[in-house]
Amino acid sequence: MRRMMTAAFLAALCLASPGQAQTAAELLRGADDTKNVLNYGMGYHLQRFSPLKQIDKQSVKRLTPVWNYSYDDNRAEESQPLVYNGVLYVTTHNATMAVDAKTGKQLWKTKVEYPPETPRIVCCGIINRGGAIYEGKLFRTTLDANVIALDMKTGKEIWRSNAIDFKPGYSFTVAPLVADGVVITGISGAEYGIRGFIDGWDPETGKHLWRTYTVAGPGDPGAHTWPGDTWQHGGGSAWITGSYDPELKTVYWGTGNAGSWNPNTHKGDNLYTCSVLALDPKTGKIKWHFQFSPNDPYDYDSVAEMVLAEIPVGGRPTKVLMNANRNGFFYVLDRTNGQLFAANKYGKTVTWAEGVDEKTGRPIEAAVTKHVRDTEQTVEVWPGAMGSKNWSPMSFNPQTGLAYANTLDWGMKYTPTREQYRAGATYWGADIEWVWPQGPRGYLKAIEPMTGKTRWEAPSDVPRFSGVLSTAGGVVFAGALTGEFEAFDADTGAKLWQFQTGSGIEGQPVTWEQDGTQYVAVSVGIGGVYSIFSGDERLAAVPAGGSLWVFAVSK
Ligand code: CA
Repeated sequence: MRRMMTAAFLAALCLASPGQAQTAAELLRGADDTKNVLNYGMGYHLQRFSPLKQIDKQSVKRLTPVWNYSYDDNRAEESQPLVYNGVLYVTTHNATMAVDAKTGKQLWKTKVEYPPETPRIVCCGIINRGGAIYEGKLFRTTLDANVIALDMKTGKEIWRSNAIDFKPGYSFTVAPLVADGVVITGISGAEYGIRGFIDGWDPETGKHLWRTYTVAGPGDPGAHTWPGDTWQHGGGSAWITGSYDPELKTVYWGTGNAGSWNPNTHKGDNLYTCSVLALDPKTGKIKWHFQFSPNDPYDYDSVAEMVLAEIPVGGRPTKVLMNANRNGFFYVLDRTNGQLFAANKYGKTVTWAEGVDEKTGRPIEAAVTKHVRDTEQTVEVWPGAMGSKNWSPMSFNPQTGLAYANTLDWGMKYTPTREQYRAGATYWGADIEWVWPQGPRGYLKAIEPMTGKTRWEAPSDVPRFSGVLSTAGGVVFAGALTGEFEAFDADTGAKLWQFQTGSGIEGQPVTWEQDGTQYVAVSVGIGGVYSIFSGDERLAAVPAGGSLWVFAVSK
């Protein structure tokens, strides 16, 4: 008996040893586990809300840096840290790192070696958005289209699987999702005329389990929405991590623009581009889809986070999916079946469509969009190709019922072009020139999901591109491209605190509690889509330099 108990005790010790176990059950509780940050989006629902409140509207004024860790990397840092048993796991495009959460001391660093030609074929920043952890392994993706599993304890590579030859323009920047025991990844590269897909992988071995194309091919439902062989270069990238409802056993994953942007070169709805797909994580089977922008001309990728919550709809608590779409409308869907509950304008200036048809869910296109379809002539349209909100993830606070999002406000002069597809070359199909507003180009907004109305907004001349975090302390965290990490009052939008981090912020802040102290972490480092394509001269004075900052309230 004693021997048996000892064996059981040892087994329990083994399971509990730091960095070793990461069970499915822990991931399911991720949103409520304040001692760890187990999921991308701080929970399968991607709410990025923490019930912690040591840092509140008063104490946030005493927030000070605890440590800073250099990534030794001059690229944009868009990765979300994960925290497990006192260890932070972070990624850059060319390394994965484990760092002691209290001291900032590096525990291990494993480099990603790339073929020399890899980086120049990536559209919008040489970046990575983070890892996923499960059963003692950390999963990440690479720019040359590999998925890698590392030992969480040592950083040693356990397996590596290639999704596809990267040379025609395929790449990975996405943080994987582990749902129902499957590692799920989505490909990037719609601006290179790829045919997009989402993959499932075996976490234990890296074996490829399934592939779901985001562009319907011959024989697929929706194939008729692509004329001729246009599906072959139909775009539909899937570069942001999906959400997961474990009760419905459904993953919700967004898809990008059709290739090329010129809609007249592939007339039809172009399923399943600019859509959300409801997928069975075990098989990749599409349960339902909802398309936001059929035959999209403007690069209104619908990849951004599909946030899950229970909110009142018609007075009844309802399981919804929320998306602040790049096309300027805030969508609330019934996540059991994809039915539309609401779609209202949240972008400051939206001219391409008058609204969204309540019954069909299709946009009611404005004259300017009809004109460009009829004539292929230059039009001015708002928002521009970066959208009313880009990939920067929003937060949903179930206590205030508001979504907090970094929104954008500028337009573009848009001219469709006829482009020949060439493997490995860009396949834009449009010339664009930005049209800037007089004042601020961005607003951190508190948005009412069902109406799209702005409760408050915090403007910024240079638009913000960071993720947003909200907490039960009534605080909303965001970061500026000019380097300030900022805290706002969740009820009024008043700025409560800021700290200059030394480089532009495009990372995704997270928070957790260890030994009685609440910490906040964010990756900083400039170099993403806005700094590459905006020509904003104000960023010339913002130095590159990736690093990880951790803050706490000084006692
Ligand atoms: Ca795109």
